[in-house]
Amino acid sequence: MSSYSPPLEEHNFVLNHVAGLEELSKLNGYQHADPATVSTIVEEAGRFFAEVMEPLNRTGDEQGSTLDNDGQVHTPEGFGEAYQKLVESGWPRAHLSPDWGGGGLPYTVGVVIQEMFKTANMAFSLAGMLTQGAVEAISTHGSDELKKRYLEKLTAGEWTGTMNLTEPEAGSDVGALRTKAVRQDDGTYRIFGTKIFITWGDQDITENIIHLVLARTEDAPPGTRGISMFLVPKYVLDANGEPGERNDYQIVSLEHKLGIHASPTCVVSFGDQGDGAVGYLIGDELEGMRNMFTMMNGARIGVGMEGLALSERAFQHALAYARERVQGRPVGASSKESVAIVAHPDVRRMLLTMKANTEAMRCLLYVTARSGDLMLHAETEEVREAESKRLALLTPIVKAWMTDLGVEMTSLGIQVHGGMGYVEETGAAQYFRDARIAPIYEGTNGIQAMDLVLRKLPLDNGAVVEALITEMTEVLGPMSEHDDLTTFRDQLTTAIQGLADTSSWLGARLAAGEIDHALAGATPYLAQFGTVLGGWLMAVSAVAAKSGPAEFSKGFLDQKVITARFYGEHLLPRANGLIETIEGGNGLLAAADL
Ligand SMILES: Cc1cc2nc3c(=O)[nH]c(=O)nc-3n(C[C@H](O)[C@H](O)[C@H](O)COP(=O)(O)OP(=O)(O)OC[C@H]3O[C@@H](n4cnc5c(N)ncnc54)[C@H](O)[C@@H]3O)c2cc1C
Repeated sequence: MSSYSPPLEEHNFVLNHVAGLEELSKLNGYQHADPATVSTIVEEAGRFFAEVMEPLNRTGDEQGSTLDNDGQVHTPEGFGEAYQKLVESGWPRAHLSPDWGGGGLPYTVGVVIQEMFKTANMAFSLAGMLTQGAVEAISTHGSDELKKRYLEKLTAGEWTGTMNLTEPEAGSDVGALRTKAVRQDDGTYRIFGTKIFITWGDQDITENIIHLVLARTEDAPPGTRGISMFLVPKYVLDANGEPGERNDYQIVSLEHKLGIHASPTCVVSFGDQGDGAVGYLIGDELEGMRNMFTMMNGARIGVGMEGLALSERAFQHALAYARERVQGRPVGASSKESVAIVAHPDVRRMLLTMKANTEAMRCLLYVTARSGDLMLHAETEEVREAESKRLALLTPIVKAWMTDLGVEMTSLGIQVHGGMGYVEETGAAQYFRDARIAPIYEGTNGIQAMDLVLRKLPLDNGAVVEALITEMTEVLGPMSEHDDLTTFRDQLTTAIQGLADTSSWLGARLAAGEIDHALAGATPYLAQFGTVLGGWLMAVSAVAAKSGPAEFSKGFLDQKVITARFYGEHLLPRANGLIETIEGGNGLLAAADL
């Protein structure tokens, strides 16, 4: 019973009435992305991912990727053919730079396409996400020679990219990595070392794979300052730029995982068979961490998107089940007829919680992507700089708030199914298993919360957070014109004030050097921040829906307001419930005998 129906009205509503697509499409370079064109693009992309990628989601989970005795990874049945269709469709490159064959669409439209891929088939989508990250890192930091030899194929998706940071002793602490890079006379390097958990580290669907590897040159200082980034192709390119000799690294094993079985997660051993794997320096030596962040920031948003994608998928699945499953009678009903469980208030609560959180996450994702577009294309330097800081602030929240919610919402999806959710036959369990990785990789959610408190909250002495909070209050005026939004408005006013208070409290702890007290509250602060952002953007949605844009059906707009009000009246109040936890400090954590 698994299926995926792209919510096209919803995508278009958020793009146009929350993320301001029309305004974006007036910017230099984006004129071809007017709302009517984008609406057609979204529809076509939705059809492609639902028809080509979704049918492989279940079989991919059941079969998983495998490693043969020759160290070659094999993807599940149908993946190779579907990937060729993906490359031909052009969807992976739709928003990438036209300089290397991309379609040049705004990132805000690119995230809609990526969201659809992830909703249809998260495990498969990771190949594309990491390839895009490689394109970003090479085009920002690589030499002209590297760009010329690699970017066209990567942009088109004809080759895939990977990201190699993690080692057995270097997880969150990337600075502990030991992989070595030895300089050669010809300007290349030889790479030696073992990486673990490398997503799509090998596959059989493209003729080459381009690994971006973090390693340490021989005389490099310890820690993150001593890291450089290298491009290591599976097949070293010949003089014509074609894949030639097999590079010196092996896939030692595949990790056995809770979910995303179709995504091969590899242990890779570089240079254990010979002279070392040939690597090409990206940027300068010792700039590896900075370069990797170019790749990781995009990937963090991509991973945050997984929380949204799987929540959407789990919601659609749970709703379909709840409409069919007949069980029990409404309390107090005169009829003795049993009803579908969707009639029971508690099941409706679960479903509406899933729907409202999903819509809130979508709003946050598109608004964050808009900052990415404005950072590059806004007319004035002042706006570009402000949006760059806004993007930096929102990135850890998108990553962590949305992926934690993804686990919670897919778990609710199982709950709606009762026992049938806990068995594998219905497919609800797969979403939960797949969702569980997202709070872990690309920097655990704990690390994201530390980033929010230690680096993003102090940006411009707190002015970046303050500007966002001030902007949130601007929706309160328009809300007061609608009587049925009064309770939501009151809740939002209180929640925004709560966020301002905890931001000041944390800022004061940092200023006083009480870092442990601030860090003890980091994760609940991030949850509060995400919840309030969701409230703000659902309020923007409600006000926009009430203005009755003609391109949407009345039924859709009425439901938009109901869902937004549910978020504001039932979910948003939880944000202030976190204040005492945030401000509880480190005392008990330090005192506990752990
Ligand atoms: C399926 C999968 C795919 C992956 N794909 C890739 C990939 O493609 N490329 C790649 O390089 N890596 C990849 N990874 C690795 C992933 O990024 C790491 O697992 C992750 O960064 C956490 O590192 P760790 O597993 O070593 O956990 P640890 O760093 O050991 O963390 C364990 C716990 O301690 C906490 N912690 C650690 N340090 C601190 C601290 N200083 N302060 C507070 N809390 C802390 C963490 O938040 C976590 O809860 C993948 C992992 C998995 C499981």
